[in-house]
Amino acid sequence: MNEGKNSYKVLARRFRPTDFDDVVGQPEVLASLRTSLEQGRLPHALLFAGSRGVGKTTTARIIARAVNCEVTPGPSPCGTCAACKSILEGSASDVVELDAASNNGVEEVRALREQAGYAPIRLRKKVFILDEVHMFSRAAFNALLKILEEPPAHVLFVLATTEAHKIPDTVRSRCQVLPFRRIGAGDIEGRLAAICEREGVQASAEVLAEIAAASMGGLRDAETALERVLPLAQELDLAAYRRLVGRLGPTRAAELVATCLAGDTKAALHYSREAVETGVDERECLGEILEVLRLVLLLHVDGEDSMLFEATGSWRERLLELTRASSLETIDAMMQLLVLARDRIRHLDDRRILLELTLVRMARIGSVQTLGELLAAAPLVESEGRVESEGHVVSAGSATASHARSAASATTNSPSTASPSTTSQPSPPAMGLSATGSPSTGSPPTRGNRSADPWVATVERALTERERLGNLLSAATLDWKSDAELRLEFGALKTIDRALVTSEKSKSWIESALSDAAGRRVAIEVVTAAASKSKKPSASAGATGAGASGDAQQGARRPRGNVDPDELPGLGRKAMELFDVRHVERTDEAADA
Ligand SMILES: [Zn+2]
Repeated sequence: MNEGKNSYKVLARRFRPTDFDDVVGQPEVLASLRTSLEQGRLPHALLFAGSRGVGKTTTARIIARAVNCEVTPGPSPCGTCAACKSILEGSASDVVELDAASNNGVEEVRALREQAGYAPIRLRKKVFILDEVHMFSRAAFNALLKILEEPPAHVLFVLATTEAHKIPDTVRSRCQVLPFRRIGAGDIEGRLAAICEREGVQASAEVLAEIAAASMGGLRDAETALERVLPLAQELDLAAYRRLVGRLGPTRAAELVATCLAGDTKAALHYSREAVETGVDERECLGEILEVLRLVLLLHVDGEDSMLFEATGSWRERLLELTRASSLETIDAMMQLLVLARDRIRHLDDRRILLELTLVRMARIGSVQTLGELLAAAPLVESEGRVESEGHVVSAGSATASHARSAASATTNSPSTASPSTTSQPSPPAMGLSATGSPSTGSPPTRGNRSADPWVATVERALTERERLGNLLSAATLDWKSDAELRLEFGALKTIDRALVTSEKSKSWIESALSDAAGRRVAIEVVTAAASKSKKPSASAGATGAGASGDAQQGARRPRGNVDPDELPGLGRKAMELFDVRHVERTDEAADA
C-alpha cells in the first residue's frame, strides 16, 4: 500500500483490478466472498493470508466498494457512484488503510479504535484495511482485539498478512480467514499479455513467460518486472531481456540443469561464462538453479501432477522433462552442492571460481547416473582410452582440499588401486562440495544403495541445526579408516572452535548424524592441528597387508552385482579419474573391527 504515496501511478496500481472478475488466480477466495456478499453475511473481520503480490489488498479495496456502493452493492460494485469513485480514487475518508509494517504500535491502534467508534461520514461502512498486520506489537494486537471483540455494526476490518502464523490465535479466531494462494504462471502470463495489449505494446511471448516464471506466483512482482521493460518491450527478445535484468532467468536455469544432467561439463562452463558476462551475480545464479532443482525435487517426490507449487503450461512441461531425465538422488546431490556453494560463495573474493566449480561438479553428478551402463559397456570404454580427468580443479579457498587430494593421489598411484581388494570411500574435500555424487569408486555396482554422500548430508544438517559446528565441519579433512570409522582432521583452530569440535557433545552429535545419514554405525575421531603433530599413519601403510582381509570383508559385506571388477582391468582407475574420488586404504585395524 506504500505505493499509494507516489504520485506516479505504477503499473500494478494503474491496472489494479476493480472488480472480482479481474482478480487473477484466487477462485476459491472470490467464490466465498461473493457468496457472503450476495447473502449479506460478510463477517465484520476478514483475514487475508498469502504471499506478497497475490491480490490481498486489491481484493480488500473491492470489498470496500462492495459494501458501500450506492447503486449495486454486493459482489459487483458499479464503479461510478460517488462512493465507488471516492474509494477508487483513494479519497474516501471512511476507508482507512494502515500499513502495520510502519505503524505497529499501540498508539496507532488506539487511534484506530477511536476512529472506529464514530459512525462513517459519507459511506455506509467504515472499512479498515490493515496490511502486514503480523507486524503489530503485542500491545497493538491486544488493543485490536478489544475492537474485534465488540465491533460496532458500521465497521469492517480486513486484515492482510504474508505471515499468518504470527497472528495471535485470539485475533485469528475472530476473523474469517481466507487463504490466498500463489498465482499460476499461466494466469500471470495472461494478465501480463492483457496489460501489454491495453498499453498498446507488442511484447514477446517468451519474455512474458520468463517474467511470469520468475515471479514465482507473485503477480505484483511480475507486473513490476514488466513495467521496468515496458518502454523497450517492443524490441526486446528473450536474450536482450535477460541481459537487461541481469538474471539467469528460470528457463535458462532449467537449460543449465538439463546440461548438467546430461553430464556436459563443457557446456555448463560456457553457461557460467555467459551468465557472468551478462552481469548475473554468481550467488543469485546458484540460487536460481537451486530453485529449478527444488521444483524438480517436488515433482519427483510428489508426482508429476504435484500441486505443491504453481507452474503451468510450457514451464511445467519443461520441469517435467527435467524430472524424467533425472533421478531423485541426482537432484538431491545437486541441491546439496548448491546449498553448500551458496553458503560458501559469500566469503570469496573471486566468486566465479566457485560458480564454475559447482557447475562442473553438478555436470559430473549427472553423468554418475550412467555409471552402471559404463560398467556394462566396459570393453568399449576401455578402448576409448583415457578419459580426460577434470579432477584438478582445486576447491576455492581450501588448502585442506589439496591436502586430501595429495594424500589421495598417493594411494591412487599404488598398483593395487584398481584391484577389487581395495576398499575405498569417497572423502569430500574441505568445501564439502565434491563427493556428493561421487560413487565409491572401488565398488561402483553398489552405487544404487546410497542416495548421497553421508558426510555431505551430515555437514548440511549441521549447517542447518548447528551452524557454527557445521562451518567447522565443512572445513575438516576426512580420512575414512573403514566404513565404520571416520577420522576428522582440522587445521589450526581458534581455542573456542577447538573446544567445540572436540567436545563430547559435538562428537556424539556428529556420530549420530553421520550414522543416520550412512545408515550404519559410524564412529568418529576428531584430530585438531595442535594434537595431530605426529603425522597420522600413512594412509597406504596398510595397503599391502590389507588385501586379503579387505577382500574377504568386502565380499561378505556387499554383493558385487553382475559385474566382477576383476574382469574390468583399469576400470576402477578410469572411474576414479572420471569422478575424482580419493582412495583411502583399509587398515588392518579397521578390517578386524
Ligand atoms: Zn458504486
